[in-house]
Order: sequence, then C-alpha cells, then structure tokens
Amino acid sequence: MPVAAKLTAPRTVEIARRPPLQPGPMEVVVGVEAAGICGTDLALFRGDYPVPLPLVPGHEFAGTVRKLGSGVDPAWLGRRVTAEINNTCLAYHRPKLCSACARSLPSHCLDRTVTGIIRHDGAFADEIAVPAGALHTLPDGLDAVTAALAEPLAAALETFVMSPAAKGDLVVVLGPGRLGVLIVFAARQKGLRVVAISRSEQKRARSLAFGAEAAFAPHQAIEAIHAMTGGMGADIVVDATGHTEGLTQALKLVRPRGTLAAKTTCGLPPEGFDLTRLVVDEIRLQGSRCGPFTPALKLLARHPEKLRGLITSTRPLAEAQEALCTADQENKVVLISG
Ligand SMILES: [Zn+2]
Ligand SMILES: [Zn+2]
Repeated sequence: MPVAAKLTAPRTVEIARRPPLQPGPMEVVVGVEAAGICGTDLALFRGDYPVPLPLVPGHEFAGTVRKLGSGVDPAWLGRRVTAEINNTCLAYHRPKLCSACARSLPSHCLDRTVTGIIRHDGAFADEIAVPAGALHTLPDGLDAVTAALAEPLAAALETFVMSPAAKGDLVVVLGPGRLGVLIVFAARQKGLRVVAISRSEQKRARSLAFGAEAAFAPHQAIEAIHAMTGGMGADIVVDATGHTEGLTQALKLVRPRGTLAAKTTCGLPPEGFDLTRLVVDEIRLQGSRCGPFTPALKLLARHPEKLRGLITSTRPLAEAQEALCTADQENKVVLISG
C-alpha cells in the first residue's frame, strides 16, 4: 500500500499506509519522486501556520502521472510533471467560475484548495491527486529532485511580476535564504543589479555565486547602499528575512518612489515600521506569492547544476519527521519517495 507522511498534530508526523488514491473528475494521480521542504512546511509542522489537521504537507514536487480521472486528456498519462499549488475553478475546469477566476486571478480563487497547505493533501507521500489543469510537463532531462525547485523559483520570479523593474535597476535582497537566494538569481537573470544583505557569511558568499554584485552584513547595509546610489537608496528592496523586522529594515534602504517587495509571510505587523516615511517618500509596498511555472522550468532546464547545488540533502520519505525537525539547519532538503 502507498505511504503518506501525515501531520496529525504540531511536530508530529505519522508515516501511514493508505489505500491507493483514486483521481476525482479532472484530476490525475501523480507518483511522487521528490518533494522539497520549504519554510511553509516548517511553519505547518511547528504549528505556527495553523490549518485543519490531519494534513499531508508538501507542495514543491515532481513525479510521473500514473492515473487519470474522468475528463482528463489521456496525453498526460506517463508524463513527468510538477504542479502549481492552487487548485482553482480554472484548474478543475468548473463550468461556473468564482469571481476571482472569472477575472483571471486564479491564484486568488475564492473556492481554491492549496496542495499540501489548505484542505488538499500534499506530496510528502508516494502519490498525490491534483487537478490536471495545475500540471506542467518537466523539460526533457530535468531530474525530479531539481524540478522540485520549480515552485519556489516561480515564487521568486513573481517578485518581479508584481514589482516590475527596468534593466540595470538595483535590487537589494534582505535574507538570501531558501527563497531569498532564488530571488537573487531571478533578479540577475532579468538583468537587474543585485545586492544581498545577510548576517551569515555563508549566505553572503552564496549570493555572490548566484549573481549578486555585492553582499553586506546588516550593520553595513545602509552606508553601503547609500554609497552605491548617491544617497538615494535602492530601486527595489525585497524582504525575504522571514522576520517581522525585515520590512522595517527594508524601508531604510529603499529610494523615494521605490518599491518594498514583501515576501515574508509571518503575518504580524512589522515593529517600528515608519509609515510616515512610506507616505512622504511615495514608496510602494507590494506583496507577492505564487508565480509563473513556465519560465521557472526554463531556468531550471538551463541551469540545472547550479540550482541543484541549492539542495543540501535528500532523505527518504520515511524520515519525514526527522527531516522536518532539522530542515532549518540547512538550505534545502528534498524528500525522495518510491
Ligand atoms: Zn514552498
Ligand atoms: Zn475560482
């Protein structure tokens, strides 16, 4: 019988056998090969992101389509795929769309489930059922472990979908960790100039390897960015710190009429945030979340070795509990199924 890692209570994962999944209408069952652990999974595991339990987490995955539900194009069978995480009216081809899907905002679908997060069991399992409309075919030759980076890389790219930048603009990334380093990489791929800010010497060095032209410790940041910009500040400052103070720091580095790109989802108001400065300097505050898979998969196909280098370990699914306990001590852990 297939196996799934079920979160039954905070910090408690049970590896349980379950009957083989049957795809619902417009769904497929994917045999999972690899599933990445991200900050959201850690927040779910610790109970910091409360959702109804039990839940099988895991939303960054790749595998092979094994079964088709009714209404699904038979061409999907046997294809190597990954999937977007929002299971929407459009993904299910519902005859009546919610108001968000009708306005072409499917990632804000009012009737969505979110794979591995909200009311939809995820990929820390041998198999997963998802709507065929959420699937993307993997580029030829891209291995499943590297392909599991498609979702976070898409989220990194979304930063610049929501905060468009002109070639040569200066982007500062605060917190070049799991997601932040992908934002450094995405910015560089877009021809932007990038500076990373981190307490960690290792993360600063890695940011340079992923395209940052400079990297500074937080206490040097204001002076360094002002020196680089003639006292103006950066065009875009991305907060990927995961901390409430991140946005407050970001505001000190952005230029008038620049953009604060918020990627931290800790849900609490930033302490000491200077709203007056935001208004007086006409600064834009822009959130962003899930992003476009097609360009993310293209980048993975073009730079597989470089991006694969971000994966610090792979572990068997059976070790999900231990992997979730220790994942925050390294960059990216990927669970291997089957
Ligand atoms: Zn994630
Ligand atoms: Zn919808």
